[in-house]
Amino acid sequence: SDHQLEYPVSPDEMDWSKLYPEFQDSETGEMKSKVTIADIGCGFGGLMVDLSPEFPDQLILGMEIRVQVTNYVEDKIIALRNNHAQQKGYQNINVLRGNAMKFLPNFFYKGQLSKMFFCFPDPHFKQRKHKARIITHTLLSEYAYVLREGGVVYTITDVKDLHDWMVKHLEEHPLFQRLSTEWESNDKCVKIMTHATEEGKKVERKNGDKFVACFERLPNPIIE
Ligand code: SAM
Repeated sequence: SDHQLEYPVSPDEMDWSKLYPEFQDSETGEMKSKVTIADIGCGFGGLMVDLSPEFPDQLILGMEIRVQVTNYVEDKIIALRNNHAQQKGYQNINVLRGNAMKFLPNFFYKGQLSKMFFCFPDPHFKQRKHKARIITHTLLSEYAYVLREGGVVYTITDVKDLHDWMVKHLEEHPLFQRLSTEWESNDKCVKIMTHATEEGKKVERKNGDKFVACFERLPNPIIE
């Protein structure tokens, strides 16, 4: 359960300098960058580690609900930062323990994010558990709120039924439009998310399938 978790009342209350100290301007105290990339249910953090050098000026945040897993990722990032101190590597990634199905707008301003990743989310196989899935109509409206126009939702799973579910809900949502397979094959993040995550590697060892779907955040319709 997440009742002992602390959430900021609004994004204004978030002190990001604790998570990304290198990105704090030493004179003004202001952050030089904002979080623009979120890995929802980041697990052991392999995706962030591979994205980090690709987006050196952007802040990447993993959200993870399990305490032990979050602690593991924190320790891993500290070690990476220490081992790459000279190049100031891995300063742009960090993890927060939290329930990404709640309170995302407490962390992020409207339109703040440019990419959200949903890599191998828990499948919740049983029909009566489907409402617990991380992609639902209601949650998509929250994701659309924190994503900028033109931002991208990335999904990947080895569970065909979950893939169909995510595609169906994203396609039905008025603020998302599926990107083409050609777009997918030219996008470096698709390549990274297909191989970087711990769950993806497990699927690879079992020769499992990987189903990818990416969706663009459309502009809000103009209401006359
Ligand atoms: N994305 C990682 C990967 O591909 O290796 C982890 C995949 S794992 C199957 C799903 C992860 O999502 C778990 O670590 C789980 O604790 C986390 N998770 C599930 N529901 C969540 C929620 N509401 N908020 C944040 N994390 C969640």
